[in-house]
Amino acid sequence: MVDSLIRIIFKYFILSFKHLKLIEPLLKAVSNEGYTTPTPVQAQSIPAILERRDLLGCAQTGTGKTAAFTIPVLQLMHEEQNPEQKRHILHTLILTPTRELAIQIGQSIEAYGRYVDLRHTVVFGGVSQHPQVHAIRNGVDIMVATPGRLLDLMQQGIISLQHIRYFILDEADRMLDMGFVHDVKKIIAKLPAKRQTLFFSATMPAEIRQLAGVLLTNPVKVEVTPPATTVDIINQSVYHVDKGYKQQLLVDILQDESIESVLVFTQMKHAADKLSKALIRAGVNAEAIHGNKSQNARQNALANFKNRKTRVLVATDIAARGIDIDELAYVVNYELPNVPETYVHRIGRTGRAGASGTAISFCDRSEKEFLKDIEKLIRKQVPAISGHKYEGLVSAPVAKVPMQRQQSNNRQQSGRPQSNGRSHANSKTHADTRQQSHAVKSAKPGQHRNQSSRQKQTQGQGQSWSW
Ligand code: AMP
Repeated sequence: MVDSLIRIIFKYFILSFKHLKLIEPLLKAVSNEGYTTPTPVQAQSIPAILERRDLLGCAQTGTGKTAAFTIPVLQLMHEEQNPEQKRHILHTLILTPTRELAIQIGQSIEAYGRYVDLRHTVVFGGVSQHPQVHAIRNGVDIMVATPGRLLDLMQQGIISLQHIRYFILDEADRMLDMGFVHDVKKIIAKLPAKRQTLFFSATMPAEIRQLAGVLLTNPVKVEVTPPATTVDIINQSVYHVDKGYKQQLLVDILQDESIESVLVFTQMKHAADKLSKALIRAGVNAEAIHGNKSQNARQNALANFKNRKTRVLVATDIAARGIDIDELAYVVNYELPNVPETYVHRIGRTGRAGASGTAISFCDRSEKEFLKDIEKLIRKQVPAISGHKYEGLVSAPVAKVPMQRQQSNNRQQSGRPQSNGRSHANSKTHADTRQQSHAVKSAKPGQHRNQSSRQKQTQGQGQSWSW
């Protein structure tokens, strides 16, 4: 009832942050950030959190959800602070699945908490724990953490959660995808029962709803732009193209110099690497970002992409999760995801803040089912580009000759099984291949299908959410 009332108020009156009863130090910080109007998730969440309600938020990255939970928690903590008490005690835990997200949340706390005396630290794995331990020992009020490192530090007796009053679980569905649910449950078991819990997830599959049910007490529910509608302003298209021609098609598309900056998605890390190398060989300024890269390499790749040094960033879904780029105009789904919601997340990276974006997808035979699922979810057909150069071509095993010739020495392989499992390189050129494939064009549809490899590919995709 209250939720729908807030929604109606928000719809008909443009609220400012002042209407949300924020204290001066926070209003000043928000204004420093250049925000004038709260986003819908902020308008709905901030009053409820200030009223000390638990919250179940269905919102994805890009909706302003970080500020939606950070700002009111900063306010509550500031108001509870005893000026006599100089010690900083860990009262807030924000659990998030990736290092990139943890760092970004840390930066948000830094920005929004500039004028309050609360200390925070960010804790994640893959780097030395010493600076993190040092910060914790100096005393912190707020901790942003990924589950693995947090558990590790808890087990070493360096962190105790006994004084936690505010617990925020961010991107819960991603935690599930990444196999962190057991770690999360172990952490939850150590939290005091008396606390305020804020639970955010972009999607609400059954397992997530169940976890939310256990964690939350009479929560206020906030749902903004359900995934299926966020895609409406994005210009979507799909190229039906054989797997063996995807690389060439992408290179062709990138000939258009008006495409300044593109985020390209692959399902697996190896594929991201392989594609970025192929693009570089084709003269395209590209970099890959995925979980096998060191923390520094990923931060650098991200920074290069943000400041336009790198034109094409090839990413896996999880690596891309924390990418927060305001003016991303193009997303390419080089491989379609087998989870339709992932498609919505991917393309939602363009078209932010009402700007229109373009999402181009490549769909090979084995991905047609995925496309159907996506169209079911978004409740519309993705327009297919007809009459393109590779339409109807079916690649022979030699389709990737230029790449395989270069890689035959180090035996590098794609993470996704090849479409025909017989990928023996030979010395034919790409032009040879194209000629051969043109001949194939008149063959009966499905002649080059390989059922068992398609099945394998689907299985491969199901396991591809590694970080
Ligand atoms: P998030 O969904 O938390 O990742 O936020 C996405 C982006 O929106 C970030 O770049 C924020 O800085 C920005 N943002 C958050 N709240 C607002 C607001 N009220 N007005 C304008 N930008 C905002």
